[in-house]
Amino acid sequence: MKVEVLGNTQDGGVPHLGCDCDLCKEVRNDPGRQMHVGSILLKENSDDDTVRYLIDATPDIRYQLRGKYIDGVFITHSELGHVTGLLYFGQEGPDATGLNVYGHDGVEKFLMQNDPYRFLVDRGNIEIHNLENNNGMELQGGEIKARYFEHSLLNHPTTAYIIEGDEKKLFYLADIDRWTDEIIELMEDADIAIVDGTFWSKEEIGRYEDVPHPTIQDAMVQFEDLDTDIYFIHMNHTNPVLLEGSEERKEMQERGFDIVERGDTFEI
Ligand SMILES: [Zn+2]
Ligand SMILES: [Zn+2]
Repeated sequence: MKVEVLGNTQDGGVPHLGCDCDLCKEVRNDPGRQMHVGSILLKENSDDDTVRYLIDATPDIRYQLRGKYIDGVFITHSELGHVTGLLYFGQEGPDATGLNVYGHDGVEKFLMQNDPYRFLVDRGNIEIHNLENNNGMELQGGEIKARYFEHSLLNHPTTAYIIEGDEKKLFYLADIDRWTDEIIELMEDADIAIVDGTFWSKEEIGRYEDVPHPTIQDAMVQFEDLDTDIYFIHMNHTNPVLLEGSEERKEMQERGFDIVERGDTFEI
């Protein structure tokens, strides 16, 4: 199986609405450099990539998905960067038929309680399936498994996905409050981990307490002894690791970590 990175930023994207920082200004003036919201695509390891599953449907989905056909979408949780893209499958878009959407039953509740999403179900554009904690399904000769974790801004957990191919295991958790022993154990058990790198430091935004995410500085200490290849995703527009050549990016790479970027592909 192949895993392709379709984007790497936090829900609000880069450029970020209302922001005139150097990065946002630069990227706004040069749409080719736009950084898309975090999402990955799982593809069959064949030339035509006919079987394709998405993890998270972002507001940038129109730019991220090439080709017509998608077999299903695994949702991590129901916030801006993770479910909004589903709306584009409706009658204003390609008017999909029975697109399979998988997630926690809190995601289903959210979709059914909010009309623009409920219409997708009523019209048969999407079909929602509940994926229970620790349960999985076969996928392209491999397996995908869900693990629930608390995410305090939500009334339902966020879902980490563990994707196992013929050769490697990939752990994906883009949005979390803090690292727990359980998460670190799962990362240790995987070959590749793509995890929350929203902020570099707590000082980066004035309202860190309202947006609980671990920092990359803290993560690098906590993950120091893991043999797993660790990459960060879900970076906020303020995170200096998004800037090529920044001191922070250099430090992160010297310490054996990296970020994922659009187009990166992992064979698993
Ligand atoms: Zn998010
Ligand atoms: Zn900005």
